[in-house]
Amino acid sequence: MKAGLVWAAAALCAACAVREAEPGPPQDQAALGAIAGAIAAEPMRQTIHALVGFGTRHTLSDTASDSRGIGAARRWVQGRFAAISQDCGGCLEVVTPAQAVSGPRIPAPTEVMDVVAVQQGSGDPQRVIVLTAHLDSRVSDVMNASADAPGADDDGSGVALVLEAARVLSRYKFRATIVYGVLSGEEQGLYGGKVLAQYARDRHWQVEADLNNDIVGAWLGQSGSGDSRRVRLFSESTRETETPQEARQRRYQGGELDGPSRNLARYVKRLVERWIPDWRVDLVYRVDRFGRGSDHEAFNALGDPAVCFRGSAEDYRHQHQDLRVENGVAYGDTIDHVDFDYLARITATNAVAAGALPGAPAPPEHLAIAGAVTPDTVLTWHAPADPQAAALAGYRVYWRDTTESAWTHSRWFGDVTEAKLPGIVIDDWAFGVASVSTDGYESPVEFPGPVGAFRLTVERAP
Ligand SMILES: [Zn+2]
Repeated sequence: MKAGLVWAAAALCAACAVREAEPGPPQDQAALGAIAGAIAAEPMRQTIHALVGFGTRHTLSDTASDSRGIGAARRWVQGRFAAISQDCGGCLEVVTPAQAVSGPRIPAPTEVMDVVAVQQGSGDPQRVIVLTAHLDSRVSDVMNASADAPGADDDGSGVALVLEAARVLSRYKFRATIVYGVLSGEEQGLYGGKVLAQYARDRHWQVEADLNNDIVGAWLGQSGSGDSRRVRLFSESTRETETPQEARQRRYQGGELDGPSRNLARYVKRLVERWIPDWRVDLVYRVDRFGRGSDHEAFNALGDPAVCFRGSAEDYRHQHQDLRVENGVAYGDTIDHVDFDYLARITATNAVAAGALPGAPAPPEHLAIAGAVTPDTVLTWHAPADPQAAALAGYRVYWRDTTESAWTHSRWFGDVTEAKLPGIVIDDWAFGVASVSTDGYESPVEFPGPVGAFRLTVERAP
């Protein structure tokens, strides 16, 4: 029945036939292919080897030693960022935001320090794309700060990914800012994510995406499942900061699968599967693994779009385990379980997404939808209010069946702030709009109303 409606819409839409024929700006994005191709496995093997060499990187471990503990590991990461910056003419500013925290897993106030590199955007530096992973590691007892905790996959793999993405992306100039965050305190209560999310808020950064990576170095699951050509990408369904009023509105207007984090995840999947051959991004419609979490949630807690990559399947004998052999089975998160070519594909996934997002203008603002009790759907919006609007060519309107997971239909509109879809009934579809640059870079699709907004334009009480 819906296909019939679309056919009818096409037949009725003589006036918009030209528009439908317009493909939009040509896609001139060779840089993305070059970025994907430049990601290498060997530097990541070296990174994880170095990280494992610090014995433990537990958040409560020694900070004075130069060879063991979280302090030595932090300084090593700082040195890596400094070296990458030197190679790009000082393009990275390295900062170490920190907070003294205590909690159920941090009995005495302890400084949680992140190591962060900032690659300032040339067009709109306040627009920020964040890549994150956590440096700290643990064994079976989360309070044990002295036993060897190699953390090769959890989350040495993520740290290696962030450093390798920085090495490659720092060779390019982007309109928006890219922030590379190597975080601490994750295993003790996701503290490092909170430190960085707050640091971003204090600087009035507009965080358009946090791409978090936690356990991305292996694909073989404990039961023998898993696929080396797939990665999982977790995203929250609705914004964590949604008000009861907004939830009531969503109940009647839809959007329970269309928060900005979800549409960011869809964007990554669609983009990356074009650039990396024989590779699939499996979207998981859940904030993270069942009952478990990671640092992207700190961004979600402030209302920012944030998602988390995880390997295709997991072997729990290699996570949060004392190093030991039991009944002939080796336990522990050791480097021999890391597949560096697999890690390189997930790193390329992140780098392509982080390289594409700044090329697009921000998604439209104040996106609204109307059309109830009429045969047509009308979307209205404001142009993104940022300096990058200069690079804006227009907008692409997307729609899909309400039970479809991916956007299936689209139509190009030029530099307008209203789009009418004649004969396409608002009741039967989900709709969204993406901004498009003159060189064909598209923003994520934004769903109308506060449920889908990438930018929170209304200040809310905490
Ligand atoms: Zn982790």
